Amino acid sequence: MPRKKSRGPPKSSVAMFVVQCKDCYKWRKMLTEEEFEEHRSKQNDDPFVCTKLEGIVCDSPADIEYDSSRPWVMDKPNIPKTPKGFQRVSAMRRDYSKMDVQYVTPDGTKVRSNPGIIAYLKEHPEYSDISPTDFCFTSPKVVRETIPEHIKKKSPCGSVKKQKKV
Ligand SMILES: [Zn+2]
Repeated sequence: MPRKKSRGPPKSSVAMFVVQCKDCYKWRKMLTEEEFEEHRSKQNDDPFVCTKLEGIVCDSPADIEYDSSRPWVMDKPNIPKTPKGFQRVSAMRRDYSKMDVQYVTPDGTKVRSNPGIIAYLKEHPEYSDISPTDFCFTSPKVVRETIPEHIKKKSPCGSVKKQKKV
């Protein structure tokens, strides 16, 4: 079977994963993407609170302030945890208009849509315990107010940020 042409793995544009406490609204930094996904997957049923983190209470200082010193994007709540071996990559478009979500499968195939995942799982019966509903291609919402002014004004082809186009 011909392999998909690939120029290396897609690069995530996300530098930091944070979740917000439902009681004090402070932002807490997650040590790993997995930890972030764990909280995100339960956001509606079991919203995050500071005390879920060891040694942290609502009175503890926030890890980061929500401001425009960096661009923020918000994931939709309750996105399922990425199945083991797969990777969910969100990459910011160069003009900061949108993020593109794709999954990288354990064999390095990049999948960009639900039909793509359905086809991939069909071709790979070894993942029969994984369902297409374990994947979510909804892109995080880019918070316009946090996009730096010079980028908002610039045309999409301005040299703004290094980003690999795939
Ligand atoms: Zn709190």
